[in-house]
Amino acid sequence: MKIVKTVNEVREQVKQWKKQGYTIGFVPTMGYLHEGHQSLMEAARKENDKVVVSIFVNPMQFGPTEDLAQYPRDLERDSALCESIGVDLIFHPEPEEMYAPDFCSFVDMTGLTEGLCGKTRPIHFRGVCTVVSKLFHIVTPDRAYFGQKDGQQLAVIRRMVRDLNMDITIVGCPIIREADGLAKSSRNTYLSQEERTAALILSKTIALGKEMAKTQKDAATVIAAMKANIETEPLAKIDYVEAVDAFSMQPIDTFDRPAMIAMAVYIGKTRLIDNTLIED
Ligand code: AMP
Repeated sequence: MKIVKTVNEVREQVKQWKKQGYTIGFVPTMGYLHEGHQSLMEAARKENDKVVVSIFVNPMQFGPTEDLAQYPRDLERDSALCESIGVDLIFHPEPEEMYAPDFCSFVDMTGLTEGLCGKTRPIHFRGVCTVVSKLFHIVTPDRAYFGQKDGQQLAVIRRMVRDLNMDITIVGCPIIREADGLAKSSRNTYLSQEERTAALILSKTIALGKEMAKTQKDAATVIAAMKANIETEPLAKIDYVEAVDAFSMQPIDTFDRPAMIAMAVYIGKTRLIDNTLIED
């Protein structure tokens, strides 16, 4: 397995692989890898000849008061995990390699990006779309793997690829959870022991919403019950709990089409997200 820091090194390697007719699977990450990332890498390993993982904490997708500086990093541990799964190449650029000082081109999206996480994080999806477009141009994969954990992000990436005619298959992978239900996240390391216990309110409330939606088709009733449930946890503060159309990310009144119930909840200072898909 190679670890490279420059765009040119990735391009050279990919060029050689393509000459030999190999297919390329790509998993973009911000590192501090866990079993959630692992599931994406394993899917990529199964379905492609070569697997590229990027590890890049993208400054452009963090707001000025967010956790960019604090975001956990451990390249040594990440490399060992990638190696054990059979990843062929890690791309680990410095921010300067990705963004020239006079960088001024962006990929932006309306509609899907304005609600849910986009409300609290107004510049987030512009940063995500821009960096993912850049990475797609650098790696030129056949398939790219994203987790349902970031459900809005997955919908946004699918839309970007469709709207901009990118010749890449986007593969969505299910949410990987801890044994007690908490969705795995690099940000879980911010939680104290007491907060870790309190954080279970997210997955428990997602399960409640999913169960209710089997019989209760009125979205407002389900969302109200979910909010009331979260409010029983003193350490939890709701950012949003919403039911949206699975493709447009617009709020829905009735569960009469493929939908997503999604939430962001602060546990102490840590903002955690979770969601589930609801079939109609
Ligand atoms: P991140 O490093 O947080 O930017 O995540 C990189 C990719 O891993 C994204 O596509 C995430 O949706 C995915 N991912 C993160 N956590 C999980 C999880 N618990 N289950 C499945 N995919 C995940």
